[in-house]
Amino acid sequence: MQTCTKCVLNERFVGIRFNEDGICNFCSSARTMDNQRSIRGKYEAKFEKLIEERKGTGSYDALVAYSGGKDSTYTLHLLQERYDLRILAYTFDNWYQSDRARRNIRAVLSNINVDHMTITPSFEGIKKVVLASMSDDMYSAKAMARASSICTSCISLVRFIGFRLTIEQRIPFLVFGMSPGQAPMATAVVKTNPQMVRTMQDTLLRPLSDRVGDVIRPFFLEERHFDRPEDFPHSVNPLAFADYDEEVIYEIAGRYGWKKPDDTDANSTNCLLNALANQVHLDTFGVNPYAYEIAELVRTGCMTREEGLARLAEPFPAQQIEDVKESLGIQE
Ligand SMILES: [Zn+2]
Repeated sequence: MQTCTKCVLNERFVGIRFNEDGICNFCSSARTMDNQRSIRGKYEAKFEKLIEERKGTGSYDALVAYSGGKDSTYTLHLLQERYDLRILAYTFDNWYQSDRARRNIRAVLSNINVDHMTITPSFEGIKKVVLASMSDDMYSAKAMARASSICTSCISLVRFIGFRLTIEQRIPFLVFGMSPGQAPMATAVVKTNPQMVRTMQDTLLRPLSDRVGDVIRPFFLEERHFDRPEDFPHSVNPLAFADYDEEVIYEIAGRYGWKKPDDTDANSTNCLLNALANQVHLDTFGVNPYAYEIAELVRTGCMTREEGLARLAEPFPAQQIEDVKESLGIQE
């Protein structure tokens, strides 16, 4: 099996090619560090200017998707400490939050001045979404390069709940705490509009609702939302332009009472579904769904290649996968 000599992607990855030095096309076309730094600076300046214009215009400045993981905890910290924003955080409870994630959410919220809400769909609805997502033809191969289909379904629910809430409450910034590997730099600060969001919604909602029916409809946008272009938020990923160093992030999250979990697999600090999602993805595509994210963290110097390869080689926790399968009623 050929693996890129610079990052961690191997020959099974969709669209990969290697040059004569064994370097993959994703590494060859990546920006230099200097170039990255200058683009990050531009996005940061853009966000700061928008804050000047929009801060204090509604009851909240930012709606933050809060999973209880280290990255979204660090994002809350940044928005509050660096930008002094009034924040509403929301957590999508997919019924598979780890106990540690639940405790971390309570701990962090008790130490930070942020309003918070939890959205919990019916367990029946979630079960349908997870089971439907395990069918291998649900999303395009390209969409599957960056995340498993189970994660893609969950994240799209989180994303569209965010759109609904920001539009309905006229909150100018919809903020996600995605790592630089999860979100391309181009998504750092984006003004959304009805046309763009409708296209996104169609590609996600259609395959899902074809399989699970109306249970997910309340979490997506309706015509009345699309009729309000002026209330569409800026979508912001601060970790795409802020410094991203896992050790620093662990340390800062720790100041809010956040503790590193020991009850989930290596790549998720908050979701018990992740191990099953990863296993299904690996069985279907022959690639770890975190490969792209880790390759990008290696490429951008946030992680060494050795650390990245070690992370990808860790086995998925078998007992956790069995427990989740049982709860979903999956028979071997
Ligand atoms: Zn590479």
